[in-house]
Amino acid sequence: MPGAKASVLERFAAPLRLREFSLPSSVEPGGALVRTEMAGICGTDVHLWKGQLPISLPVILGHETVGRIEQLGAGLERDWTDQPLKIGDRVTWTSTTSCGECYYCKVKRQPTRCPERRAYGIGQRCDHPPHLLGGYAEFHYLRPRTNIFKIPDDLATEAVIGAGCALITAIHGVERICIERAREAAAEEGTGKMPALPSLWRDCVVVQGAGPVGIAALAVARRGGARQIIVIGGPKHRLEMAGRFGADLTIDIDEIAKPSARVDAVRQLTGGYGADAVLECVGLPGAVTEGMEMCRDGGKYLVLGHYCDAGTAQVNPHVITRKQLQVFGSWSSEPRHLGVALGFLQATSKAFPFAETVTHRFSLERANEALMTTANWQSAKSVIVPSFK
Ligand SMILES: [Zn+2]
Ligand SMILES: [Zn+2]
Repeated sequence: MPGAKASVLERFAAPLRLREFSLPSSVEPGGALVRTEMAGICGTDVHLWKGQLPISLPVILGHETVGRIEQLGAGLERDWTDQPLKIGDRVTWTSTTSCGECYYCKVKRQPTRCPERRAYGIGQRCDHPPHLLGGYAEFHYLRPRTNIFKIPDDLATEAVIGAGCALITAIHGVERICIERAREAAAEEGTGKMPALPSLWRDCVVVQGAGPVGIAALAVARRGGARQIIVIGGPKHRLEMAGRFGADLTIDIDEIAKPSARVDAVRQLTGGYGADAVLECVGLPGAVTEGMEMCRDGGKYLVLGHYCDAGTAQVNPHVITRKQLQVFGSWSSEPRHLGVALGFLQATSKAFPFAETVTHRFSLERANEALMTTANWQSAKSVIVPSFK
């Protein structure tokens, strides 16, 4: 049986090791084997590599992946949107699958909090068959019940990977603050109908952070009808990118270094009121203190950037009371958000150049360099292309 090369995280903060695994002798019913075309390096991979999230090693990293179907298990005939699947189709998939049966999945409709979820490229060890459960590899095994999405022919692989998990994270987060829309979407799930993008119609929105999640949140807010969008962050090249993605105004945190001055700037730019919605996409605790002050009275605050536990912030609860704030949190994403994302990318490739954010390509053998360019903020988006020499 031929083997498949993979780059493996065996020890935290040590170089990834190139290893060869045997391909599965057969694909179980409902599963699939995919030949990896491109795998994105996400900021979370850097946190995982450093050992900042509790995972069990060894793991093949990579939870943003596009590939072509090599083998289909018995009974797997259609993708999540009910399109037929065949060998050779270009597909992507959600990195996690919820059980659909537990209290959070079934009763409370919060499947992203399902205790059974284990993510490809994060929570699946590679020392037992089928081994190939992460993106940094020549092949990727998809277990039964994986949410697979066929990629439309006119949608570039670079756009899907460039948007990566940041876009689905942002779509889910923005949906949460548009609570009515979220209820409708949950009701539509399973009807085969493609859910729509959440709406921030005529809202004034502040996005804190110009990293991948911030840029994606900006794109979602723009497409969702926001009237005015202010992006706060840095460095300069990230703010320039925010401009290319349609930010009306940017505030450079190096130029306006004092948080209170940034709050004043937002108030001035919003007629003295503050923003209808502030989306935190930074991941630094202090941003939350600052961002709540940027909301107008009765506004909404979404904590989206704290995917790792970065510690505590000083929050004055009186601000929440006095402003009658609505405070939201959002974790990961559901399958429907990937469906929304693919439709979104297909419809908006000119307005939101996610494909152009893929700036650095690496072979599998150079996976360590790919990870380091992401860790050191040298790239907009680094990717691994296993066939790249
Ligand atoms: Zn990610
Ligand atoms: Zn569950």
